[in-house]
Amino acid sequence: MTRKTVLEDCDVLVVGGGMAGTGAAFEARHWGRDLKIICVEKANIDRSGAVAQGLYAINCYMGMQWGENQPEDHVRYARNDLMGLVREDLGYDMARHVDSAVHMFEEWGLPMMRNKETGRYQREGKWQIMIHGESYKPIVAEAAKKSADKIYNRIMITHLLMDEEKENRVGGAVGFNMRTGDYHVFRAKTVIVAAGGASHIFKPRAVGEGMGRTWYAPWSNGSAYALPIAVGAKMTQMENRIVLCRFKDGYGPVGAYFLHLKTYTQNANGENYEKKWYEKTKELVGEYIDHHPTPTCLRNHAFIQETMAGGGPIHMVTKEAFQDPHLETVGWENFLGMTVGQAVVWASQNIDPKYTNPELTTSEPYVMGSHATCSGAWVSGPEDIAPPEYFWGYNRMTTVEGLFGAGDTVGGSAHKFSSGSFTEGRLAAKAAVKYIEEEKAKDIKVSDNQCEDFKEIIFKPLENYTVGRNEITGGTVSPSYISPIQGLQRLQKIMDEYVGGISYNYMTNENTLKRGLELLDWLQEDLENVGAEDYHQLMRAWELKHRTLTSQCVTEHTLFRQETRWPGYYYRGDYMKLDDENWHCLTLSRRDPKTGKFTMEKAPVYHIVDEKEKKEAS
Ligand SMILES: Cc1cc2nc3c(=O)[nH]c(=O)nc-3n(C[C@H](O)[C@H](O)[C@H](O)COP(=O)(O)OP(=O)(O)OC[C@H]3O[C@@H](n4cnc5c(N)ncnc54)[C@H](O)[C@@H]3O)c2cc1C
Repeated sequence: MTRKTVLEDCDVLVVGGGMAGTGAAFEARHWGRDLKIICVEKANIDRSGAVAQGLYAINCYMGMQWGENQPEDHVRYARNDLMGLVREDLGYDMARHVDSAVHMFEEWGLPMMRNKETGRYQREGKWQIMIHGESYKPIVAEAAKKSADKIYNRIMITHLLMDEEKENRVGGAVGFNMRTGDYHVFRAKTVIVAAGGASHIFKPRAVGEGMGRTWYAPWSNGSAYALPIAVGAKMTQMENRIVLCRFKDGYGPVGAYFLHLKTYTQNANGENYEKKWYEKTKELVGEYIDHHPTPTCLRNHAFIQETMAGGGPIHMVTKEAFQDPHLETVGWENFLGMTVGQAVVWASQNIDPKYTNPELTTSEPYVMGSHATCSGAWVSGPEDIAPPEYFWGYNRMTTVEGLFGAGDTVGGSAHKFSSGSFTEGRLAAKAAVKYIEEEKAKDIKVSDNQCEDFKEIIFKPLENYTVGRNEITGGTVSPSYISPIQGLQRLQKIMDEYVGGISYNYMTNENTLKRGLELLDWLQEDLENVGAEDYHQLMRAWELKHRTLTSQCVTEHTLFRQETRWPGYYYRGDYMKLDDENWHCLTLSRRDPKTGKFTMEKAPVYHIVDEKEKKEAS
């Protein structure tokens, strides 16, 4: 069959039109008036990414205009929550710019809640401000649409193109349109990967009839990691997966409940179980348990220990707060603007939080770089504050030249959330334009052969199916191919059982990780034979391949770090204690694109913020 190829040449290519991608498209136009800017999105940017349904709060806003917080405060907060290990240059850089992004959201029409007495944005917590955020995503999408030369919706990017003149320099990206089946080639001077986090790599709690329900967006399939990993970009902190405490079965968020409604948790006997686990936790992590606020992973740890000891179910005490009609409204609206599914689950389980305290649970692990963890690409920091080990010319550029990242893609800088991801997209785009202006993207060569090779690879699952289906005698079991859902379930089982998922109470060790790596290798081999019956399934096939590569990287990192840095996110049974002496560092990996082998190394953690202050004081 002849397949149409659509070719575009551009200056800035943005992969993924979520929060970071829309920020990147907007800012690229600001600095690059005459440049050709293209944004490619797997869904439709009006309702895509983790903010598709809307949000009820912007979780990262300093409030510098009112002297509420300073960027340094945010760095200390993120450092504390991540048990000491963050890239402070990246966090500081995001925090010093994030307020201006939020002010633009308001200008563009996002309804913000205001405190009636002070006139300031209504705070939900120290960092969060409350919004009527159902329209959040269409609003930022409009800014991107007005800025980019072209937005391509419904195109999944599967591979990055590489320059054939200069080693380790990007040359664009390729993918396919999942409605028409057209092959798309984007030759680009710079590429900004902003393709979101990774859900569904570990077996989820919601299986069977609940399949597809997850906390992080089910369509976040790890392309943000697989694309740079495949071309040999260095990754950092991929072991730092996140586990969330959420309302049971609907994964409804708890932030507004804790912070605004002042609800609290208790075990089945009505006890404050967190206190019970203080001494034992201290034995594992030392003084980190005394930090304020208690790091998220340690709160999870108490939850997990309590349920393992038979103290569950754990409940959120809502009955008191919900007696106040205003708080009751806020409690429900919180879901209706963001996670409608939780309200539906409660209705189906006959739970009215005014009369019944709802159950909480800990989720399966997710991988991401923008929420309360910092897995992702190892990128250059800003020139004014990044120490030499963190700086190689262009802010947010990965270790592959011309390849930038933002949002969930970027590692080491947690707690960016929606506003910080948009901001980071802006920072990456500004640097990408500078890279072009300084003529770093001259004479890139991407041959027709390279593009033709990818064309064959991308559509192979359709061929596998067309040939293999003739051998099916009944049902969906084929001797010659596996379907994307079969492959996905196999991946989730491996990650769950060997890399610290829910079935094993997040426990793993060197032996299970090594076995997990073997099984992942064999899964990779079998994925050569994944079959897709239509273009939608072709997308599923490529999502699975990206998830699997991401999972290999997560497993390698988990094996490398010989300590339990974040109890409550995962446990290394063979190294149960936090080990600051040997592991107060960041982990880096690189996968050799030719051999597929990973190499690991340590990178230093610099506590820049307090060093700066110490110097100023002396
Ligand atoms: C349940 C939930 C609740 C949250 N609550 C809050 C909150 O209350 N406040 C807050 O500030 N933040 C919140 N966040 C965090 C916020 O949504 C994220 O930090 C932010 O969306 C990350 O931005 P991003 O651009 O990296 O990823 P996303 O916004 O997810 O965008 C990634 C985009 O890439 C596209 N894409 C993926 N793969 C490909 C591919 N191969 N080719 C082309 N396109 C691709 C996706 O379709 C998507 O549009 C929440 C997130 C979730 C999931």
